Amino acid sequence: MSKSDSQKIIIVGAGIAGLTAALCLRQTGRDITVLEQAPALQDIGAGIQLSPNALHVLNAINVSDRLEAKADTPTEVSIRDFKSGTPLLTQKMGATFNRRYGAGYWHCHRADLIEALSNAAQEAGIDILFNEKIVAYEETPDTVFVKTQSGKNISADLLIGADGISSTIRSTLHPNNTADFTGQIAWRGLVPTEQLKMHLNKQGHKRGHKRGHNQVPEGVNVWVGPGKHFVAYRLRQASLMNFIAVEERAAWTEENWMLEGDINKLRTAFSAWDSPVQDILEACTETYLWGLFDRPAPKTWHSSRTVLIGDACHPILPFMAQGAAMAIEDAYVLASSLENKTSIEAGLNLFQQKRQNRVKNLYDISRRNAALYHASGIKAAARNTLFAGARMFPKALSYLLDRVYGLNVTE
Ligand SMILES: Cc1cc2nc3c(=O)[nH]c(=O)nc-3n(C[C@H](O)[C@H](O)[C@H](O)COP(=O)(O)OP(=O)(O)OC[C@H]3O[C@@H](n4cnc5c(N)ncnc54)[C@H](O)[C@@H]3O)c2cc1C
Repeated sequence: MSKSDSQKIIIVGAGIAGLTAALCLRQTGRDITVLEQAPALQDIGAGIQLSPNALHVLNAINVSDRLEAKADTPTEVSIRDFKSGTPLLTQKMGATFNRRYGAGYWHCHRADLIEALSNAAQEAGIDILFNEKIVAYEETPDTVFVKTQSGKNISADLLIGADGISSTIRSTLHPNNTADFTGQIAWRGLVPTEQLKMHLNKQGHKRGHKRGHNQVPEGVNVWVGPGKHFVAYRLRQASLMNFIAVEERAAWTEENWMLEGDINKLRTAFSAWDSPVQDILEACTETYLWGLFDRPAPKTWHSSRTVLIGDACHPILPFMAQGAAMAIEDAYVLASSLENKTSIEAGLNLFQQKRQNRVKNLYDISRRNAALYHASGIKAAARNTLFAGARMFPKALSYLLDRVYGLNVTE
């Protein structure tokens, strides 16, 4: 039996970070138990963009095969003017990304991703225990003890905190280090595409009833305007239109970070925007509202036998669609770092060394995109000139994208 065969690992949280880490570590022979506070696997009804850097990991743990049939593959992403809809910058994806990065770009329903991860976890013999909320843990030189609300005391060699933005593990490792409200809120919703307005031909007739053949352009669309932006893309073979509408707001006073939103307030906020945006909001009947929080990663991500991954460690703004991608990369690098070192602590050190610059980079890019997308007046003109420059020098844009999508942590 190798050293790793005898190692017992507890992962707190069966979200994207926890389930991916369970699968990566199981491949290296560890005994894994996942503890989840919820009564069952759950995810919000929303989409998620999976970029090539995330797909490399999902390929390596045989999850992308399970997901592929349910994923949509956008051909391009366009950043558009909020009023006219004129593309300010367009980047080809699809085959272009496959050639450049060795993996594509997918849109999935989050529930489909969680289902693919959990089915793979079950087949790999990973125990997922529900209704198990971690309330405390304690480390000794040889073991870490985990206490659950239901009264269980479980010991392990390593504890992984994948328990999201309000992480109990992080608040023990780093008391007072909570995430900050970023001054942005996001409405999210899903609309059946058949309820969107159809294109009209010159005679005023519908051009066809083909699913998804509506006014919203193909691919990922990001309309940018003063203090706001609006993202829309299709899901589940284009049967659903997923949207995220972001608006700047001075404060978030709610206790929850997610609430049911008021659809009329959302429609009013975007009433002067391009017609596809308004079509989507007209067809939308239900929306949820998020306060967007982030926090730079702490100086130390681990102690001797406890480590943080995903949002528990480094929640970032979703303006480069890289939060889950960072969690997925973390999971793979953690497993490989533990494989490469003889002690757990040395493996955790290596993990942090490999990850901290990468995560800091994405934290900064996501923050910069907020300013870029929401610019007004002279700043918006400067942004549009910058985008025009990127259209003229596509190599410069590719260089920037390579810094995000060009990393394959499985190599
Ligand atoms: C509007 C929006 C859009 C986004 N779009 C994208 C995108 O397109 N692409 C992308 O890569 N990222 C995106 N993200 C970011 C992404 O959603 C997150 O980074 C990702 O979901 C984090 O996963 P996680 O597993 O670390 O945390 P979570 O998903 O929060 O999972 C944590 C889990 O831990 C459990 N838990 C918590 N506390 C305890 C406890 N004490 N005991 C037991 N269990 C516990 C929770 O119940 C939960 O299941 C977006 C985020 C937002 C807000």
